[in-house]
Amino acid sequence: MSTETVSIPESVTQRRTVCPTPAGPSLYANVLKQYEKAADLMELDRSLRSILAATANEIVVRFPVRMDDGRIEVFTGYRVQHNNALGPFKGGIRYHPSVNIDEIRALAAWMTWKSAVAQIPFGGAKGGIQIDPAQYTPGELERITRRFTFALGDNIGPEYDIPAPDVNTNAQIMAWILDTYLMTRPPQERARCAHVVTGKPLESGGSLGRDKATGQGIVFLIERWARERGLSLSGATCIVQGFGNVGSWAARLMKRLGARLVGVQDVSATLYDPSGIDPDDLAAYAEVGRGIRGYPRAREIDSGAFVQIEADIFIPAALHNQITAETAPRLKVRLVAEGANGPTDPEGDAILQHRGIDILPDILCNAGGVIVSYFEWLQNKRSESWELEEVDGKLRKRILGAYDRVRDTARNLETDWRTAANVVALARLEKVYRERGIFP
Ligand code: NAD
Repeated sequence: MSTETVSIPESVTQRRTVCPTPAGPSLYANVLKQYEKAADLMELDRSLRSILAATANEIVVRFPVRMDDGRIEVFTGYRVQHNNALGPFKGGIRYHPSVNIDEIRALAAWMTWKSAVAQIPFGGAKGGIQIDPAQYTPGELERITRRFTFALGDNIGPEYDIPAPDVNTNAQIMAWILDTYLMTRPPQERARCAHVVTGKPLESGGSLGRDKATGQGIVFLIERWARERGLSLSGATCIVQGFGNVGSWAARLMKRLGARLVGVQDVSATLYDPSGIDPDDLAAYAEVGRGIRGYPRAREIDSGAFVQIEADIFIPAALHNQITAETAPRLKVRLVAEGANGPTDPEGDAILQHRGIDILPDILCNAGGVIVSYFEWLQNKRSESWELEEVDGKLRKRILGAYDRVRDTARNLETDWRTAANVVALARLEKVYRERGIFP
C-alpha cells in the first residue's frame, strides 16, 4: 500500500480517468468468454455486441485520508458503470487488497446481466477501494469511506448510480456513504435522497430482509432445484466457502430446511465435521470479529482439503476464481450454487459440466441481494416500510421467475444454465436497444 506524507490538492480527487488493465489473469476476460458464448448462440446483433462488451464509464479517484497517528495516506477508489439501458447503475462497493480496475469492470458487467435476468429496472455498476480493511481502525475506515464518497461526488446518486454492500463492506459503511452524500446536498433535498445507497441499517432507511437477502435467494433456488429432482433437503449435506454475509445466511437458512453443514471455509480457517456444524452457533462465534478460526465445536483441517469434502451442495460465497482446472476435478458434490460473483473460471466451468455437476450460475443464484436492494430503493422512494413476510414473498416470486426463465431457455437452446442465464439477460437488453434505438 502506498503511503504519502504530502497533502494532495482537492481537485486531484475529482478527476475522471480510464485506467489501463493490470497485468495477470483478467476477470473481465472471463465475463467476455461467457458473454460471447451466449451472444453466438442467440446470434446477437454485431453492433449491439460491441456496445454491451464495453463499460460505459470508469471513474478512478485518488484521495488522501488522515490516519489516527497523524500520517496522510492516499487511496485509490473505483466506480465502473457498465450499462444503464434498463435503469440506474446499481452495484456493490468492495474493500479488498485485490481490487483493481479489471475486477471491478467484470463485477459491473455481471450486475447488468443480473438485474436483466431478475427483471428489475437497474443497470450494472461496481466499485471498491484497494485496501485490507483489517489494517484500519473503525475511525480510519469511516474517514476513508467518507472521502471516497465525497470524491465520487455526483458520479453516484439516488436516480443515477446506487451503491450497496459487497465484500468487507456492510450496513454501517452504507450509513456513512448515505450521510456523506446527504451533506453534499442542499438541506431541502436530503429527505428525498435516502435511496442513494441500499443495504443501509434499518433505522437509516434500510429494508427488513436485506441482510439475509442474498442467502435467502440462494436457498429459495436450491429448494426449487431439489424439488424438481425429487430430492429432499432434510438431511442433505452442504459445504460453504466464505462465512460472511452471503455464506453465513445461506448456511443458516439451509439449516432451517434440515440440511447439515459439513464443511466451511473462510479466510482464517477451514472447518470440517461430518455430523454437522451449527451455522447459527458458528455465526455468533464469528461475529465477534475473529472469523471462524478457533471455533471449538468442529475440527480444523488443511485449507486444500476443503474442495474434497463430500456433500450434496457446494455454496461458494467468498471470492472469484475458486473453482478452476485444479479444484473442479476434486469436488464431490451434485450442485454448485454460486453465491459469490465469478467463483468458477471458464476451465472449471467446463470441467463441472463434463462431470455432470449442476450449476446455479452467479447472475441468477446471488440475485437476491440486488432484488431486495430494489425493494429498499422502492420503499425509500415511496416513504414506505414493508413487513418481512412481504419482502420475502416478493423476493421468492421474483427469483423463482428468473429460475424458470433460465431453466426453460437452457432446455429450449439445449445449453448449460450459465449460458442460458446470459441469453436471458442479453435478450432483454437487445429488446430495449431495438425499441429505443441509438442516439442520435
Ligand atoms: P463478506 O465480506 O461479508 O464475506 C466474505 C467472506 O469470504 C468472509 O467470510 C471471508 O473470510 C471469506 N473469504 C475471503 N477470502 C477468502 C479466501 N481466500 N478463501 C476463503 N474464504 C475467503 O462478503 P459477502 O458480502 O458475503 O460477499 C461474498 C461474495 O458474494 C462476493 O463474491 C460478493 O461479490 C458476492 N455477493 C454478495 C452480495 C451481498 O449482498 N453482500 C450479493 C451478491 C453477491
